[in-house]
Order: sequence, then structure tokens, then C-alpha cells
Amino acid sequence: MTATTAPDRTRLAALLAAERAAFTERNPRSAAAHAESRHLLGGVPMTWMAKSLAGFPLYLGRASGARVVDLDGHELLDFCLGDTGAMAGHSPAPTVAAVTRRYAELGGATTMMPTEDAEVVAAELASRFGLAQWSFALSATDANRWALRLARALTGRPRILVNSFSYHGSVDESFIVAGPEGPRPRPGNVGPPVDVTETSRVAEFNDLAELERQLAFGDVAAVLMEPALTNMGIVLPDPGYLIGVRALTRAAGVLLVNDETHTVSAGPGGCTRAWGLSPDVVTIGKAIGGGIPIGAYGLSAELAERLRRRTELDLVDTGGIGGTLAGNALSLAAARATLTEVLTDSAYEHMTALSTRYTAGVQELITTCGLPWTVTQLGARSEYRFTPVRPRNGTESQRATDVELEDFLHLYLLNRGVLLTPFHNMALMCPQTTAADVDRHLTVLGAAVRTLTS
Ligand code: PMP
Repeated sequence: MTATTAPDRTRLAALLAAERAAFTERNPRSAAAHAESRHLLGGVPMTWMAKSLAGFPLYLGRASGARVVDLDGHELLDFCLGDTGAMAGHSPAPTVAAVTRRYAELGGATTMMPTEDAEVVAAELASRFGLAQWSFALSATDANRWALRLARALTGRPRILVNSFSYHGSVDESFIVAGPEGPRPRPGNVGPPVDVTETSRVAEFNDLAELERQLAFGDVAAVLMEPALTNMGIVLPDPGYLIGVRALTRAAGVLLVNDETHTVSAGPGGCTRAWGLSPDVVTIGKAIGGGIPIGAYGLSAELAERLRRRTELDLVDTGGIGGTLAGNALSLAAARATLTEVLTDSAYEHMTALSTRYTAGVQELITTCGLPWTVTQLGARSEYRFTPVRPRNGTESQRATDVELEDFLHLYLLNRGVLLTPFHNMALMCPQTTAADVDRHLTVLGAAVRTLTS
């Protein structure tokens, strides 16, 4: 494999088959557990777990810090970290203590009553992201949904604009992609309530001219975006792009919603703080609960005041912003401990330094072996992509997908004790990840590449 040649497909297919066989041999208890799952839709607890590398998913035994142990007892270095849900590491001690105290000692995981933890978490998020008023959900998807409802209510406009091939959870308005024939539903979208081209507009990331053109229709309530795309590889903003997005949205009276669910890898206040951004709304979920479900959205003081004046909006009962367990005592106890004691400034320094080491190591491999790949870092997160030119938008990055090559690398790593994020080549560092873990990944990845190219 050189910068000009793709991997030999016949060789790749044979190597993949061999890794699949080794995986099956290595994981009999996971295979049996899956075979016995007769009442689970798709044979898995959640249908996306059916994305499997070798016919059955790897079952979890236990996990701690930067390591998981599968059902067959293999310890794996975990660079997936629950696709960011466990960015604080698995079961960090302060979060375990807070959750145990709330659930076992005090009791009352969910009572419809606020706890004092809520204000502490909101204040922490406010100081990290620079937005004054916060509310809680149970997932990042829900945080996005409620933020979009509020945006439509406050602007009186119907549509939402997203970047092509972005991902914001199962938010109906977001499954739209750009193409030469114009916007279209993202392929495979399951049962949309209405055609997404009626609810949404789309522009490529890093394309200010197209954003301006789309906003000129005058019907967009909010731009929902990640400051850097993280769900189709990592796509970084061009210099000036995010400043341009803010200027265009302001000029058009469109609210800017930064989804920091993944980009919180950039620092304690995500890209918003790291890059000095000023969105109207920030949404987040996953990592801030240390593994306990939570979502949150923060509004600027100005927006919160606009909302306060709209007394006809039913925010209290059945107005469409809900969730009986949202803001529950357990989530907030977990988030308080995770934010104030685990995902601290010094933890970020450690995680980012390791990610830099990881990125440099992968880059060295790319250079030494002449691989037609790129590697991109966003703070504690790094990802390699199978294209020699760094993609500038979701569509370009999507074109660099090579499922067979990805499956081979993931399986090769997994069979040797290293777990990357499924659906990605994403590697995330947590406070307990070590330099030796990073180096182990690089050694195994190097061996995989040499196997492929020799
Ligand atoms: N926003 C972003 C940027 C995400 O990547 C995801 C999930 N990968 C979500 C929102 C939704 O998170 P959840 O599935 O936990 O609701």
C-alpha cells in the first residue's frame, strides 16, 4: 500500500477472513450469549450493536478506567470509551462514590424533585461553555431535540440547517445530506415523520457561500452543528469558517446551536471555550455523566430572557419538552462528581498529551509506510481516515470510507487486545489511559499495516 495504490483487495479479504476466524475462536462465550439471545430484536439490546465484525458482538464482562474485560476474560485497552460516554474512564472513583451515595445511601434516583446537585452542575457547565442558563435531558439526542423546539418557538421559523453527513443522534431534522441533485434524505433513514427536505436545509461543513445561500431563504430557525465534525472522521474547520458561521447566523437572525457532545474532547469547555466561540445554545450529553445517562442544553442569558417572556409556551406540562426522568437526582449526582472531580483541567492536559503522542505515532506510521491516509486530532480524540488528503467536509470524508479495511484493522487490533470505536477509527483518551497504552496500540497497528502490505 503506497500513497498511490489501494490495498490489495484479495489479500485484504483473506486477512479479514483469518481475523474473523480468530475472533470467533477467541470469543466462545460472546458467541454463545449472542446465539442464545432469542428475544432481542436483532439479537442485541440496541439495534446498532448488531454492527459486528464477525457475526456476533463482543459481550462485556467488566470495565475499569481505560480497560474493558470481555465475557471471555480478555482485557482490552479501550480507546472507544463508549464512543465518548466513558471519556471520564469506566467507573471513575468520585462518580462511583457520588452515585452510590445517591442511589444506595440517600435513595431517590428519580422523584420529580430537584436536588442541590443540579445548580452545581449548571454553574459548572455555565463557566465552561459561557452560557448562562441550563436544563437537563437524558441524552444528547434529547438535548438537541429540545434545543431545536425552543429555536423554532423563539424565531417563529420552521426549518433547521445541519451539515451534510453530520450526526446529532436520532434527531429527525438532521438526516439530510447534500448532493449534486440537491438536498436528499440520508440513505437508510427509518420512518421519518415527514420528508426531511421539508423540515431541514443542509450545507457542507466549511462552505460559507452555501450556508449564506441556504439562510437567505429566511426560514431557518437554527443551525445545529459540531464545531468540528466528529462522526465522519474528524473534519476540522478552515481558518475563519466558524467566525463566518457566527456572522452569517447573526445577520440572518438564526440561532447557532453548538453540539459539543463529542467535541468536548477539545477541552473542558469543548471547542466553544477552546476556540472562543459564542453560540446561542450548547448541547451536550454522554461524557458528563461518567457513564450515567444525561443530556444538557445551555442558553445564552439573552435567549433565556426571550424564552421567559414567551409565557404562552408550555414548558411545564405537555408542550413537547419533557422526559420524566430528565434532571433526575442520580444523573446529576454523577455529573457533579464527573465534572468537578474527574474531567478536570489537569485530566484534560494528560488526555490531550496522550492524544498528541497517539497522533504523532500514527502520522509516523503513515509516513514510513507511505499509507494513503491522514490522521486528525481534536484534543483528547484522534482518528485516521483512508484518504491522502484531509477531508474538508462530511461528503469528502464519507467517500474515504473503506468498510473492509476498517473491519480488518479493528479485528486485528481487537484480537490483540486493543479496542477502537466501531463505525470509526476513533481513539479517545481518558484520565486513566497511559503512554504505554498508546504505544501498545501503535505497535499493534504497525504490525497490522505490515501484514497488509508485506
Ligand atoms: N451529538 C453528537 C455529536 C453525537 O455524536 C451523538 C451520538 N454519537 C449524539 C449527539 C447523540 O448522543 P446520544 O445517542 O447519546 O443521544
